[in-house]
Amino acid sequence: MMTVRPRRLALVVAPASGESFASWVDRMALRNGCPAWAIIEALGVDVRASSDVRSLAYGVVTMPETCRAIEAATGVSSEVVRGMHLEVFDGSVLDLAGVRVGDKESVRRAEGREWVQFFGSRVCPTCLAASGGVWLVWWKLGWAAVCPEHRTLLVDLCPRCRVSVRRGPAGRPARLSRSRMPAPLRCGALLSGAVCDQPIPQIGTSSVSSKFADQQQLVLEVVTHRRSALIAGQVVSAGQWFAALKATAMLVRLGVPEVLPLLDAPLDGQGALAAEVGGQRWNRAGPVGRFGMAPRTALVAAGLLAVALEVAAAESESALVARLMPLAAAARMRWKERRPDLLTQVATCAPSNVIRLVSGSVSRRSRLRR
Ligand SMILES: [Zn+2]
Ligand SMILES: [Zn+2]
Repeated sequence: MMTVRPRRLALVVAPASGESFASWVDRMALRNGCPAWAIIEALGVDVRASSDVRSLAYGVVTMPETCRAIEAATGVSSEVVRGMHLEVFDGSVLDLAGVRVGDKESVRRAEGREWVQFFGSRVCPTCLAASGGVWLVWWKLGWAAVCPEHRTLLVDLCPRCRVSVRRGPAGRPARLSRSRMPAPLRCGALLSGAVCDQPIPQIGTSSVSSKFADQQQLVLEVVTHRRSALIAGQVVSAGQWFAALKATAMLVRLGVPEVLPLLDAPLDGQGALAAEVGGQRWNRAGPVGRFGMAPRTALVAAGLLAVALEVAAAESESALVARLMPLAAAARMRWKERRPDLLTQVATCAPSNVIRLVSGSVSRRSRLRR
């Protein structure tokens, strides 16, 4: 990938804190008056053969030599460059093992499995307007639901073209454009040759309670290792914590609609959850894909997060079991008769497994202490 010798760029834009790599490249392209493709080439990435974002694992993972080349071209340190890629979350909220630059299939596989949009994003229109077009990397996470600063739900879809924001032509990941100038404040989806010019700062958002803002803040602190992850009063790794959150979310989805009255989620969040589960067809990934996939919308993410955090916050293992049991019972009630195979699914995320996850790490730690 590294055959072009990088040259020092004359106009470098400083990356903003938490900014995504694609956002930084777009802003740099704007400053230099050229398309993103030209910037990427100038940074030393060989895009002559393919500028396909999947092959490049664009913004997902990077290679040390690419980071060094970018540092040479921009003066921005390799560490900061790496920090703009989703791999900064690897091992906590994401598992990007096996994802390689140049291996499109490895990117596609992780894309289907992980709770993240590699080539799309959610967005807080108010933050985007205030920063003049800085897209934050955490907005790509499946658990991204709420802007903790503005206490609003993040936006998923462009209201004009109905495409996920930042997703590229007709909602599919794109090649880096050789001709178009990036427009960080506009939708930019390419539909039958026309570019959607919806200004993102003008998209309306819904307010949420401070509880949801606090929950999102907690998730972000665990993601970035600024806060320790607790399940049933025990410290676990961020990776285990998110695995338990996902298991709880799966249990909740399995129990829709019976589970809905039990949830401590906002009413519209419950509705969104019911619509998500009810409206889906069985996809190629089968039941695991259906119940274990990333929340489709910020509203669903907020609903699942509220329940999963409530479960994780139990003060003891017995309290944890007490919180999981009704969810497991609703899931069993829902699937016992019609789909016995799904009971295996319920068993995978049964309380005992969540407990094992927790106690496993506890006993490992006590062994270490000895
Ligand atoms: Zn905001
Ligand atoms: Zn649009």
